Amino acid sequence: MLKLAVQKSGRLHEDSMRLLKECGIGISNGANKLKTEAGNFPLQVFFLRDDDIPQYVEDAVADIGIVGENVVYEKNKSVDVVEKLGFGKCRLSFAVARGEEYSNIQSLEGKRIATSYPYLTGQFLSKNKVKADIHEISGSVEIAPGIGLADAICDLVSSGSTLLTNGLKEVETILQSEAILIRNRQLNKAQQQLLDKLLFRVHAVKKAKNNKYILLNAPNDKLNEIIGLLPGMKSPTVLPLADKGWSSVHSVLSEDEFWDKIEQLKDAGAQGILVVPIEKMVM
Ligand code: ATP
Ligand code: ZN
Repeated sequence: MLKLAVQKSGRLHEDSMRLLKECGIGISNGANKLKTEAGNFPLQVFFLRDDDIPQYVEDAVADIGIVGENVVYEKNKSVDVVEKLGFGKCRLSFAVARGEEYSNIQSLEGKRIATSYPYLTGQFLSKNKVKADIHEISGSVEIAPGIGLADAICDLVSSGSTLLTNGLKEVETILQSEAILIRNRQLNKAQQQLLDKLLFRVHAVKKAKNNKYILLNAPNDKLNEIIGLLPGMKSPTVLPLADKGWSSVHSVLSEDEFWDKIEQLKDAGAQGILVVPIEKMVM
């Protein structure tokens, strides 16, 4: 049995549960439950506050956990980072009042800085040889400058709208963060095998998200050129169409080259291009 810690409620909860579901792991998410067991995978899920997850994983109360990098690096516990998960993206940044002058990190010398991330903030400041006064507060950091509690803040930002509504401007980013899978450093062989099995599924899900299945019709005299544009997993599938002189070509395209390739395929004479999402991809 593998024990996984996820956030009980909040920004990471739903995406964490969705990932398990996409991995084919059925969890009955009973409201207000502290823990639950998967029906079809030897996995126990603990629902916890995100801040507590690194500690629980270090102590082997949970074997693995899903939590933001920001929390993992702030808590600085002895755990291994296994995998980036692609959701919960944000950054940890300094912000000051919009009217405040800021040229570089030295501008924070001698200032009062409010943050929920005293460790990462302190580390960044001392690396840059800046001495400032760090005030640790646990929530609503963004209101600190407005009420005269601090001159600057160091807080999580995603769209920046919270900063904007509080009259602040983002001036320096110290960490890019997303949800990651962490693990206890002393997993036994059986636990590691279960983790590998889970990771195999996570990779298939991630891979599928980054790729699209593409179907198109190609005139036979342009077939070679069109096939040359397609990577495919091995090579594209080519099927004759009822209409003589035409073939149907199936392949897989990655998200980042997608639009460029579509243009090139059209220019090369491809028609009736269909693009469909892939659910799982196993290489
Ligand atoms: P908990 O009750 O579990 O302690 P919390 O209030 O500390 O919850 P949330 O606000 O739910 O935490 O955020 C959880 C994580 O989501 C953050 O640690 C961060 O990794 C990620 N996240 C993504 N975007 C943002 C954002 N704009 N603001 C804050 N966190 C974000
Ligand atoms: Zn928290």
